[in-house]
Amino acid sequence: MSVPSPVELLQTLVRFDTSNHGDGRSAGERECVLWIAGLLRAAGWEPQLLHRQDAPDRLNLVIRVPGSEPDLPGVLVHAHTDVVPVEPEQWSVPPFGAVVAEGYVWGRGAQDMLWSAACMVHTLLAWGAEGTRPRRDVVMAFVADEEDGGAYGAQWLARDHPDLFEGLELAIGEDGGMCQTLTGLDERRVNVYTINAGERGTMHLRLRATGTSGHGSRPSGQDAVSRLVGALHRLSSHRWPLTMSTVVRAHYEQLAAALGHPLDSADEESMGGFVDWLGPEVAGPMRWTIRPSATPTVLRAGYKVNVVPGESIAEVDVRCPPGTVELVDQTLRELLGDQVEWEYTTRGAPLESPITGEWWEAMVACIHRHDPEGIVIPGCMGGGTDNKAFAPLGMDTYGFTPAPPDPQGRVAAGYHGVDERVPVSQVEGGSRMLRDFLEHV
Ligand SMILES: [Zn+2]
Repeated sequence: MSVPSPVELLQTLVRFDTSNHGDGRSAGERECVLWIAGLLRAAGWEPQLLHRQDAPDRLNLVIRVPGSEPDLPGVLVHAHTDVVPVEPEQWSVPPFGAVVAEGYVWGRGAQDMLWSAACMVHTLLAWGAEGTRPRRDVVMAFVADEEDGGAYGAQWLARDHPDLFEGLELAIGEDGGMCQTLTGLDERRVNVYTINAGERGTMHLRLRATGTSGHGSRPSGQDAVSRLVGALHRLSSHRWPLTMSTVVRAHYEQLAAALGHPLDSADEESMGGFVDWLGPEVAGPMRWTIRPSATPTVLRAGYKVNVVPGESIAEVDVRCPPGTVELVDQTLRELLGDQVEWEYTTRGAPLESPITGEWWEAMVACIHRHDPEGIVIPGCMGGGTDNKAFAPLGMDTYGFTPAPPDPQGRVAAGYHGVDERVPVSQVEGGSRMLRDFLEHV
């Protein structure tokens, strides 16, 4: 059987509409996963298909490739097959058309994260065709529902089927290790590869305030809306302190050193100045990793302008960098006060994995085999990934989907937005790098 190219695989993956609208509604991962399973079976593999009993449409695929040295700790590679929804009228190409043009593959999910899924499938097909085996056991998981928290995907698999991941001590998933070509203070161009070794924790809050309902012409100052708004105002105007974990500090300091930019990581102004100098395109989410954040996102109260409602509800998206869980707990208690009831609806701890040692060195070595001059630094994600589900199983977790620079300087764009696209070179080079990593680690 001839092995389809990574780009061909990605095109087919994009054409499955796996939009995840949340609320437990199916994203239709089943068709996509069955297609992957068919390819793998034809290549001689025996994938396992798994779904929650109440959700046969939310199919997950897990496959274990036995290593030639079975006593070594194994490696998990995971990718989600669902994507975020689209507003097609804003796109300049059909979002599920998988057009290849201008050196990119275009479509929803091309970058987040079907290109990685394509690299994984390609590696399995190539190994199948050539009879190659990695040294370690490699488990690949194609999971549902990442874009809505993973209750039908990674979270469920890790909790109900931990046996699938037995003996694994490293998990790699989205995203990190992709080349960013940056210009230093001295105008020198450097290739920087940021491997994400940390993730902020995700804490979602639900707030509820109550008060006596009544006529809108007779304010009491003790009504449900005023109480809730007071608590939200204290929360959203709070200035969270700078809290730098090992990974975040290393990210800032090593990036500044690579670019020849002065930085005092203990000084707020110096940190802010560095991020401003980088600009939003380059800095990306790094400006949010140095402190917790609390963003009110949902508000519900009232039904008629002249009636004071008896209840008001809000939801808040709180993110906490590694090492700040206690600080955040305590601060929330103080800021929210006793006029509102509140609870965590989600409480995912932050992640922080080692930035020294065998796994780290293996990832750095992989990048250096492809780009000897490349500078590899650790980073921290502002949000979260399925790594949060796998970390409790005892694995060190990294955002590591390595890819080389594009020869014409193209970069992926439109992630969760309009005209999502990924350079063809990222898909082809990334596939080579993933395979190389798994064969050397
Ligand atoms: Zn993603």
